[in-house]
Amino acid sequence: MSRLRIGILGGGQLGRMMALAGYPLDLAFSFFDSNPDCPSAALGPRFGDADNSEASLDAFIASADVFTYEFENIPVAWVERIAAQKPVYPGVKSLAVSQNRINEKKLFSSLKIPSARFAEIRSESDLRQAAATLGLPLVIKTVTMGYDGKGQFLLKTEEQVSEAWAQLGAQAPLIAEEFIHFKRELSIIAVRGRDGKTVCYPLTENTHHRGILSHSIAPAQFVDSDTQLTAERYISAILHELDHVGAITLETFETRNGLFANETAPRVHNSGHWTIEGSRCSQFENHVRAVAGLPLGATTCDRPTAMINIIGQHPVTEDILQLPDAHLHLYGKSEREGRKLGHITLTANNHHDLATGITQVADMLPNPMALFPGK
Ligand code: AMP
Repeated sequence: MSRLRIGILGGGQLGRMMALAGYPLDLAFSFFDSNPDCPSAALGPRFGDADNSEASLDAFIASADVFTYEFENIPVAWVERIAAQKPVYPGVKSLAVSQNRINEKKLFSSLKIPSARFAEIRSESDLRQAAATLGLPLVIKTVTMGYDGKGQFLLKTEEQVSEAWAQLGAQAPLIAEEFIHFKRELSIIAVRGRDGKTVCYPLTENTHHRGILSHSIAPAQFVDSDTQLTAERYISAILHELDHVGAITLETFETRNGLFANETAPRVHNSGHWTIEGSRCSQFENHVRAVAGLPLGATTCDRPTAMINIIGQHPVTEDILQLPDAHLHLYGKSEREGRKLGHITLTANNHHDLATGITQVADMLPNPMALFPGK
């Protein structure tokens, strides 16, 4: 029997970790990425030229049996072109919804999943109107192409309306969301197989610095079983509605009134990197299993686990490798401010020891401020 080959749109670190999870199952991979030095370059044939021509996309489509993607900001037309010829998971519907914050919010409300009240903004006067009806502060975001907090404005006073419009108006339509006073940010990742069977990972607590994920802790502490079950209910409803196959992530705000959905990503996620060492079957392996039509693995987390992002500058490899409970993952990227270069996973017997371990790792990072913004 010939090896099943999975074609991945995108050759970044997520594609790389999918392939690393799939090789033990004797799966093969190819990638569509115009960058010859992308993190996945050594892991399989790469397609895609400087202008990502149709011919290069077709060559990529010919190279594999089944397809997936590692990034949602890709043209829907690419996925449609693949879908006309070969299976692609997740499907076009999942991609189209997650690319557009308004569609996402409408999906939440149709499934009765709490999320911030919002208004669609097409002009400066819409923005003024939203400030009056929804109240201030408002978080103004671009409807498409937003990630890591890019393209956002926190509107605190009516006087700032013109400034906000001047900054983001060119990228309209925008969305104005009521500001959610949250205690912390929790995400949940679920994976749905081709047969509709679904597995969910435990809620994970995420800390950001300057809009970029700094570290995650799983399972999130102080989460009662009701909250976990509620998150699983929300994400299962989304999976079912989208007829989604593969991994999906739901980012939420934990508030005094329960969980509020913020956004979804139709893919494996940075807040799930801890699953490589912290869970029986990682998000990457489960995603690949789903795409390949294989049974899904257990998502149990046996020991508290932390994932610490390496951002901008590399630590000294030898320092990190001295720590017995640390696992270093480097993505093969060059240093640049704000760039995700790798991550470190730490496991511990309890959350207290985990916190000690995080402090130890922070001391070894060139920019520990990112980990402890309050310091
Ligand atoms: P996003 O790109 O939607 O993930 O937003 C980036 C960050 O901005 C989030 O991680 C939150 O910290 C913050 N944020 C986004 N939307 C809201 C909101 N409606 N209320 C409060 N904070 C928000």
